[in-house]
Amino acid sequence: MSTEVKENSIQQPSVKIENSTNGNIVAEDTIEQEVSNNHKRKIENLDGDTDEVTVVNGNDKKDIVQDEKSVIVPAVPPKVHYIPLKTGLCYDVRMRYHAKIFTSYFEYIDPHPEDPRRIYRIYKILAESGLINDPTLSGAEDIGELMLKIPVREALAEEILLVHSVEHLNFLESTTSMTKERLLEETEKGDSVYFNNDSFLGAKLSCGGSIEACKAVVEGKVKNALAVVRPPGHHAEPDSPGGFCLFSNVAVAAKNILKNYPESVKKIVILDWDIHHGNGTQKAFFNDPRVLYISMHRYEAGKYYPGTIAGAVDQVGEGDGVGTNVNIPWPVGGMGDADYMYAFRKVVMPICYEFDPDLVIISSGFDAAHGDMIGQCHVSPGCYGHMTHLLKSLAKGNLVVVLEGGYNLDSIAISALAVAKVLIGEPPDELQTKIPKIEAVETIDEVIRVQSKHFKILRPGHDSVDHSLPTNEGNKNFNLQEVIRNKQAQDLFTRHNFISLPLLNDKGNSDADDQILASPEIYDSDIIVISVHDPAEVWGKVDPSTGLINPSGSTIIDSTIKLINWSLDQKYGFIDINIPDGAGVDNITSSQEVLLYLWDNYIQYFKASKISFVGFGESYSGIIHLLGHRETRSVVKAAIAIIDRKQLRPLVPLLDEGVSDWFYRNSLIFTSKYHSCWGSGGGDSKKPRKKFGRVLKSDSDGLDNIWEERFEECTDFILDSIEDFDESSN
Ligand SMILES: [Zn+2]
Repeated sequence: MSTEVKENSIQQPSVKIENSTNGNIVAEDTIEQEVSNNHKRKIENLDGDTDEVTVVNGNDKKDIVQDEKSVIVPAVPPKVHYIPLKTGLCYDVRMRYHAKIFTSYFEYIDPHPEDPRRIYRIYKILAESGLINDPTLSGAEDIGELMLKIPVREALAEEILLVHSVEHLNFLESTTSMTKERLLEETEKGDSVYFNNDSFLGAKLSCGGSIEACKAVVEGKVKNALAVVRPPGHHAEPDSPGGFCLFSNVAVAAKNILKNYPESVKKIVILDWDIHHGNGTQKAFFNDPRVLYISMHRYEAGKYYPGTIAGAVDQVGEGDGVGTNVNIPWPVGGMGDADYMYAFRKVVMPICYEFDPDLVIISSGFDAAHGDMIGQCHVSPGCYGHMTHLLKSLAKGNLVVVLEGGYNLDSIAISALAVAKVLIGEPPDELQTKIPKIEAVETIDEVIRVQSKHFKILRPGHDSVDHSLPTNEGNKNFNLQEVIRNKQAQDLFTRHNFISLPLLNDKGNSDADDQILASPEIYDSDIIVISVHDPAEVWGKVDPSTGLINPSGSTIIDSTIKLINWSLDQKYGFIDINIPDGAGVDNITSSQEVLLYLWDNYIQYFKASKISFVGFGESYSGIIHLLGHRETRSVVKAAIAIIDRKQLRPLVPLLDEGVSDWFYRNSLIFTSKYHSCWGSGGGDSKKPRKKFGRVLKSDSDGLDNIWEERFEECTDFILDSIEDFDESSN
């Protein structure tokens, strides 16, 4: 190691180094000169004190006080580009002029959620927290040592037209001179948008501010930037405004950056964590491979705003853009920190690493924040901080955060503050929840299934291994659940002399062999237990590189054997119904069909006077369906189900309203302790409605564990219900 100060070793990127206390600017060449001319220079530390630092030249031994063998690293200016820079901030009071025209007193006391105060409250909390210095909140030019004001300007027509149509631009321009009546008329006609004579100005400033924020980051004037702008943009489509959005701010900014900085910015990631799907942004880049658009949003089968299938998981882009559009559609509300972090860990960050952007823009709606009445989710400021922190690691820190939605003024203020702190360099605050919801895990699993076609990093095992199923030439492949069912059937045939009750189709052929198995003399049994279950679960040991299951390390879990043995010990008749899953079969409808078939074609003609149902997993819906669709009460004495985390199914009484009460009295539905029906976040537990039967929360999670825990309670319930019958009939 050399102790020499070489000319090139102190070369700096051409940036200004600004002292954080007094704002003195020390140009790089001055530093260089100081170092080479003098052996000592003074460096002011953060407290403003001065320390003497010795700089040693290899030829000058006078200053070396330590052992000759020791290595001395000369003090050089830090070779860092990012740290000395400030975080950019876009804010302009003029964006508050765009506001809804009041048409009633109620609108005055209960204002539109896209309220001009949204940006003011964020600016205010930045000042209150000392991140910016602007005591009168009037939009000062010098806002202090941590943030740099990025002047907001109106976006130019040529910039806007990179995304929007001329008609769209002309229409918004025309609102500047519209009468109040006309503005209200257009407000009425639009899709959740409002207009006044300042809307066009506000929209151009919001859009222009977003462009300037991106420019400042790309040009290295600031290390990253926060654009506190409104109206928001991500719902504005190329041809039409919508969802409180007039121009698609982030899309316009991204298109202009790609156009004007073709050398330094070739690829952009837009991460949209607003609770709504950014249909406008998606549309702007659907066929553009230069922009990876990732949206995390409530979807709910397309029912949540904007209410189309554009936000579905299978919308992966078109043309050249296939594989650069990623939707993470939450099926329910109530999502929180653990769910968002899970999505980041499993999908967002891996695909961003693979895509390797030059710039990251966050479409930062804060309507997934805890307290937002529209989003009804629970993302904490800490979680926004963590997500920002992760995204900051991409694109050499080139990160721009642009405000989108978010309607609880307190929530958006504290969330934006958390983001701003991380942008400046603070570590994020702690997360509020750690275990993701089952709905989040399932959604992410689906996203991975769809997107692994486009992102290698999402594929299981080693990239070089082909994980697709080998071709089925000569029928060498067979489905595992068929093998398992065959084995179950063989056991029941040989050990207990079970028989098969065929399901005959219209042509008199059996559709599925061994789907319904019954104990011998089932026709004459007085008491019958009917088990309806999903295919047995396989606890599989998966080879991490090939994705293949190792059979010797894997186990089939058959929960029903215990029930069969118990029932046969009691001398009851037993019917075992297997509802296969997958391969074009929906086990909810097939369970319903099979049970109606069983009732109409077999049980009607049996001699049984007491029947108990026990359902396992999703298939239990067939039992509920049957009880609602046939008059079964004279024979059916108990309906038990172990559903774990599967969805609760309501009994819909088709014949007699009284069935619901009867069902409640004669049922036991056991859920996982984590089932969503017990309320989100573990706190405010709610009680499921009576139409779902008597729903009970187990102490455990996992179908098999619940069955283990509640087995005795279930069999006691069957015994009691049979006795009750005996008493009442005596
Ligand atoms: Zn939103």
